[in-house]
Amino acid sequence: MLTVKDLILIRNQKTILQVDEFRLNQGDRVAIIGPNGAGKSTFLKTMALLEKPTSGAVFFHEQLVDNSNILSFRRRMAVVFQEPLLLNTTVYNNVAQGLKFRGVSKADINRRVDHWLEKLGITGLSKRTPLHLSGGEAQRVNLARAFVLEPEVIFLDEPFSALDFPTRVDLLEKLGELLTNTATTAVFVTHDFMEIPYLTNNVAVIDGGSVVYRGGVREIMDGSVAVPVVQHLLRPYQKSAIMRDYVGR
Ligand code: ADP
Ligand code: MG
Repeated sequence: MLTVKDLILIRNQKTILQVDEFRLNQGDRVAIIGPNGAGKSTFLKTMALLEKPTSGAVFFHEQLVDNSNILSFRRRMAVVFQEPLLLNTTVYNNVAQGLKFRGVSKADINRRVDHWLEKLGITGLSKRTPLHLSGGEAQRVNLARAFVLEPEVIFLDEPFSALDFPTRVDLLEKLGELLTNTATTAVFVTHDFMEIPYLTNNVAVIDGGSVVYRGGVREIMDGSVAVPVVQHLLRPYQKSAIMRDYVGR
């Protein structure tokens, strides 16, 4: 459904991305992992049509993205960032906002917002303002804002990285369930291998602006991927496994 070809993105004379080809098929769920500064966020934003490549092309449903169609394509996508960009109004209005922009009728807005507040378990928060929500609650609102749009593809950039571990696990499970039930195509950026198996086995590793591995996360976890940056990213997990063995002895 989405293809990136011969992508080069240069900012301040620095090549930030160089990706020859990257394909996302309908229904795919791909995790993107890589070290800090590897280009994960920039790559995600390029696919979400929020960053314009210096050269190369993005195709959405085989159609070249250009100035004439970019806005209508963007409306078929949703993006979730680590910091929820919530407005200083009620939770309900925050979730409704995207639908108002899209000219959806009031009755449909009410029905869809109520549905997604319920799915995310935040119906009770609908009259609250986001200012005093916990991090986990705010990210539930953020997910509701994305899913209410019924996007064909959803892009998530480290959405749960700032949350405590139990909340992260809750939301990873919730996200996995929502993606399954809606069959939404998804790209999920993380810097933590442990998050990936909650959502998918399909992973792309980015290093220095290029995709250096595309395949299973299982192959990574069992140590059979010989790419240096993969080995490097894996090291802390191997250390914690040693620690577990040590404590268990
Ligand atoms: P990641 O999400 O993997 O940590 P980013 O995509 O945020 O990496 O950034 C990749 C690299 O591009 C970093 O070195 C960052 O400093 C640089 N970068 C990102 N956006 C810009 C920009 N607008 N101008 C200049 N450099 C940028
Ligand atoms: Mg990033």
